[in-house]
Amino acid sequence: MTTHEAGCICGKVRYAVDGSPLRVTICHCHFCQQATGGPYMIEPIIDNKNLSVTKGTPKTHTVVSEGSGKQVHIHFCPDCGTKLFLTFERFPDFSGVYGGTFDDPDWFEISPDTARHIYLSSARTGTVIPAGFDTYLEHAFDLDGNPIAPTVYDSPHVIKR
Ligand SMILES: [Zn+2]
Ligand SMILES: [Zn+2]
Repeated sequence: MTTHEAGCICGKVRYAVDGSPLRVTICHCHFCQQATGGPYMIEPIIDNKNLSVTKGTPKTHTVVSEGSGKQVHIHFCPDCGTKLFLTFERFPDFSGVYGGTFDDPDWFEISPDTARHIYLSSARTGTVIPAGFDTYLEHAFDLDGNPIAPTVYDSPHVIKR
């Protein structure tokens, strides 16, 4: 298995991921906009057994998800504040990585087979959703864990409000 290394801006916290993401979530929710400072988060979903902190100890900040009422833990560098990955009360086996923290942020594939766009309901005006991807107005699962039917656009879809 290939190992992909990642870390914070100051270098005091490093972590590594083995293998490929289970999938990639591209999340346009306001929580991710606040957390990244950008219009959306590119979030490879990693099985926890394939993620290890290799240097330093991240600090955690816990928030309660507005949607599910379950806890989400943000793991970040206590020195420089870079957010590294999320863990979830709702999905205890998985972490959601801040994709930009990999040394090579481009190593994992983003395609209609591997990725989906969620929370289009809060996507920023002017964001372009590429054709062919599964998209969801909010989460891809309801609160009971049942999958929600996606919308797939035939041509690039520009968010307007
Ligand atoms: Zn740091
Ligand atoms: Zn989000």
